[in-house]
Formats: sequence, C-alpha cells, structure tokens
Amino acid sequence: TFPDLPIFRAIASHDPHKTAIIHSKSNRRFTYGELLKDVEGAKVRLYHQLKAATSENEPIGGQRVAFLMENGYDYVVTLLSIFACDSIAIPLSSSFPASELRYIIENSEAVTLLSTGMFQQQAQEVLKEGISHLPTLNVIDKTLSGSGQDEVQLVQLPTTKGGMMLYTSGTTSRPKGVVLNTSTLTAQCQSLLHAWNYLPKDHLLHMLPLHHIHGTINALLAPLFAGSTIEFLFPFNADAVWSRLAAPFLEPSSSSSSSPQEPITYLTAVPTIYTRLLSSHPRLPPSIQSAARSAISPSNLRLNISGSAALPTPTKTAWSDLSSGNVLLERYGMTEVGMALSCGLAFTDRVDGSVGWPLPGVEVRLVDTETSTPIRLGHEIDPDGKEREGEIQLRGPTVFSEYWRNESATSSEFSPADPNDPNQGRWFKTGDVAARRSVPGTGETQKDWATGPCYFIKGRKSTDIIKTGGEKVSALEIERELLGLEQVAECAVVGVENEQWGQKVCAIVVLADGWVAGGGRRRSQEVEGAEGATGKPWSIMDMRRALKDKLAAYKVPQEMKVVAQLQKNAMGKVNKKALVKEVFGS
Ligand code: ATP
Ligand code: MG
Repeated sequence: TFPDLPIFRAIASHDPHKTAIIHSKSNRRFTYGELLKDVEGAKVRLYHQLKAATSENEPIGGQRVAFLMENGYDYVVTLLSIFACDSIAIPLSSSFPASELRYIIENSEAVTLLSTGMFQQQAQEVLKEGISHLPTLNVIDKTLSGSGQDEVQLVQLPTTKGGMMLYTSGTTSRPKGVVLNTSTLTAQCQSLLHAWNYLPKDHLLHMLPLHHIHGTINALLAPLFAGSTIEFLFPFNADAVWSRLAAPFLEPSSSSSSSPQEPITYLTAVPTIYTRLLSSHPRLPPSIQSAARSAISPSNLRLNISGSAALPTPTKTAWSDLSSGNVLLERYGMTEVGMALSCGLAFTDRVDGSVGWPLPGVEVRLVDTETSTPIRLGHEIDPDGKEREGEIQLRGPTVFSEYWRNESATSSEFSPADPNDPNQGRWFKTGDVAARRSVPGTGETQKDWATGPCYFIKGRKSTDIIKTGGEKVSALEIERELLGLEQVAECAVVGVENEQWGQKVCAIVVLADGWVAGGGRRRSQEVEGAEGATGKPWSIMDMRRALKDKLAAYKVPQEMKVVAQLQKNAMGKVNKKALVKEVFGS
C-alpha cells in the first residue's frame, strides 16, 4: 500500500532490522521496518485529517501541511507520511518567533499544522491570534507515530503533486517558499548518493535544523535512500557533540553506557559549527580530547563535509590539524537547487578555497555580469590576463520549478527559454558569482563527474561583489584573509556607498579574545576597549598593515568597525544589507 515513489522503494529494500533513526540523548532506536509501519499508520491518520481540513471536492494532493516538531523520529514519520498523501511538507523551526511562523503558515496557505510533544504549546500560541486565510487549522494532540490506530486501507493515491516547500534562509530578503516536488527531491538525493557514496554502514550524526536543504536533503533524505543510520543530536551543543563523537573511543570504564557507541562515519555541518567545535575542544577533559581526535580522524570519520556558507581557511586548516588530516570537503548549494557544486571524495580533490565541480546531473554555466554572455570553457582569462567571473546559472532535474505564489521572483530569476538552444531549458540565476580555474592533478579519482576546471565562489552579486573605484572586489576573498589574522574572530566585509569610490570597502570585525579596538600610543600596554574589556589594542592601521602584503591595495578595507557580535540567522549567515544599515546607517 505504499505509493510508488523512489524513496519508499528504497526504504522498503533496506534490511528491516537495520537501525534507521537514533535519538542520541535517550539512545532510543527505530528500525527501517518500524519506520515503514509507522508511516503507513500516520499516512492513514493524515489522510483523514486532510480530508477534514479541505472542502469536500478538493483533492488532498498538493495541499500544504506545515509541521513543527523536534528533530527526531516523529519528524521523519511525518515527512514521509506527507509524501505518501501526495501533499507538500512544510517543516517549521521552533527557533522562529511566532511572527515568522505565522508568516510561513499564511504565505504557504497551509491547510493544517501538525505538532507533537513540547512544540504543541508553541503551535497553539501561533494559532491563537488566528491565521487569516484559514481559521480551522488544528493541532494534533498525539504523536503521528505509533500503531493501533485506524486500520483503514487507502486506495493508492496519485503521487504527482507532493513534495516539500522549504523557505530560503532569508539572508538577503524575506524567506521565499521554494517548491520542490518529489522528483526534484529524488534527483537531488541521487546526485549526492552518486558523488558522496552514502553507504548502509554509514552512521551520520545529525546536528542541523531540519527546515533547510542541508539538514533535510543532505543529512536525512539522502541517507534514508542509502539505508544509513541517522542519529539526531539537536540543538547543536559543542560539548555534547564532542562527548558523543568520543564515546566509542573512550576506555569502557569512563564511557557512559547510555550513550550510543557506534563510531560516527559521516558528519556534515555549516562552517560555524566547525568553528565552535574547534574553540571548545581545548576545554574538554583530556581523556575526551584525545578520544575525540581519534573519532574525527580520516580512518574513523570517513566523510566530513562543510557548506551553506564560505568555509574560512583557518577553520579548514585547524580542523585538518586536529583530526590528523581530515580535510573538510566543501560544497555549494542553495534551497532552490539542492547541491550544485562539490569537491570530490579524494583528499586531492578538496582544492583550497574551491567548492569543486558540478555534481552529477547539474548543468552549470557562468554568465558575465557586465555583458550577460556565458563565459565559454577555456576562456576563463580575459585578453588583459584577468580572471573572468560570472554569475552561476544552473539547470537540470535538481532545479526547483517555482517560488510559491511569487510569479515575479520566479520569472526574474529564470532566464527565458532560448529557442536556439537544443535543450530549451530555462537557466536558474543563482545570484552568486564565481570564477573557474583548472587545477592540475585534481579530479582524477571520480572521472565520471569531477572533470574540467573547478569553481571558486566570489560571493553574492547583490552584496559580496563590491564595486570600488572601477574595480570589482570579492568580499569573501577579503574575509578569508581577515580571518587568517589572529586578532579577528569573525568578520563581514561590505561595500558602503561613497561618492568618491562608488562603494568603499569596509570591514566589520569581532575581535578575538585578548584584543580590543584601539591603538596608537599605548601600544605595549593593555588598554580598555569600548565594551569595558581589556586586552591588547588593535587599530585600523594595524589591520591595513597586516593585509598589505596579502591583498591588492584597492582590496584592503578603508574603514574598520569593531562590534561585539555579528547577528546571524539559523544557518549561521549574516544579512549584510541589514548589517550595513545598522553599522553605517546607510
Ligand atoms: P535568501 O535566499 O532568503 O536570501 P539564502 O540565499 O542564504 O537566503 P539558502 O538557500 O539557505 O538561503 O543559501 C544559499 C546561499 O548560501 C547561496 O546562494 C550562497 O550564497 C551561499 N552558500 C552556500 N554554500 C556556500 C559555500 N560553500 N560558499 C559560499 N557561499 C555558499
Ligand atoms: Mg538565496
């Protein structure tokens, strides 16, 4: 009675006794067999609920189902049962304030809101003031999983309208609903399975929010396709993650028996998570420190991935040092397309500063932002010897079809179909700029996809490509250099409107422990900074001096503002437009 979808065919083909999901804190385990059975039950209940929430003649296929649940088994059962009802799953995050939750529920025109356990109260809160388009939204008061409910057998539902709607991170503007149907989701997973080789023996530690592509596709659906084990440890807590990673490598006497003991073979996270793990490692008890280092060594942690934002070189280097050579595999992707570019499995194919090659099934072109013409392969250098850069544009089965109820964004972010192009497919304009370069000695091991030049992300066209004095500067490139300085803990490089320069390159910096803004005369002494902290002084002149030999003069920031912290969204990203407004008032 399962719908004919590749994800169900895959799950049904796995060993039913194999552990699918683990709740790390309680060590509760659920097998693939249980998962299928519970999805079956949940599907029936959801079907009735959707029937009740929609008008009589309305099909339930394509209806939006919002849900607010803890990362764990109920979430997985709910997601799959929504697919099974040919509906559209809209995962919500408990970290959203009520206004944001209400925006998504209203914007998506969800017909029902499901929640379980500790999130029911939050869901009730959201509904309290009423949701304008649908007053009948209801919250279920029992978990969807568990057996013994209705034994109604459903007729086979069609499977053409279902899928997921994920909202973008909202880094540049209000989050947009991205419609990903089940065939797009399947194509995204298959591309990853091919490139990254998920295996049934893989044990993945899941520490990411589930309302974004990174947490749902890369770290949940793709491993479910492969029959791997997914262990949820969320919300992220550096000490808890280190303890879990270390557990299988501790002497039996010092290890807690309630903790899962399988070595983690697969870890995927955003750069901020790796940065936080690195800074908390020295504070761990010595026994855990060394067990943790063994846990992340290449022989134990076989796949270690970073993405969602640029990976700072110092983080990559420090992680590699700590793990005896586990060089993070960096990839590039976005809500609208899943993963698009990725470094390869071989360490030689993790090129410094690069996000690698187009993934299987993804067609990529770079389009010159000035002339709007594609940069042809082999023409990456312009006649005066400068590296060309262009907007990344994508097409293929992994690309989404539309922004939900937002025709203007959909039509402006796709190129019109080209009648002269044999494939006629529209290209999706990512808004990100990259350069392309051949790196000798790479791409040897996965000949079927990682071929040709690899890609280097320069940043977002809207905020990261700074036009100063007639030159184009990549904010990401300067941030990489700033982060390499011991004085800088975090930073954002921005362009601030300026009459003389067009835009002026400015750095907003969070100083590392032991440093305070200031400088000049009392250089050798400790001084007091703006927040009352004491430390060694560091000034704009120091910063400019430190970058002088690393960057061309026009790239060195002309202004520096020191702030106590950088405001980040759930995916650890900075809204630079808002930041410029806050710091520079323009
Ligand atoms: P919004 O579209 O709402 O402004 P967002 O673009 O941050 O938010 P996501 O779809 O979650 O939402 O993120 C995709 C973006 O993240 C990409 O367009 C790119 O700018 C950035 N990104 C992802 N991976 C990388 C990477 N490895 N290096 C640099 N940037 C990356
Ligand atoms: Mg975006």
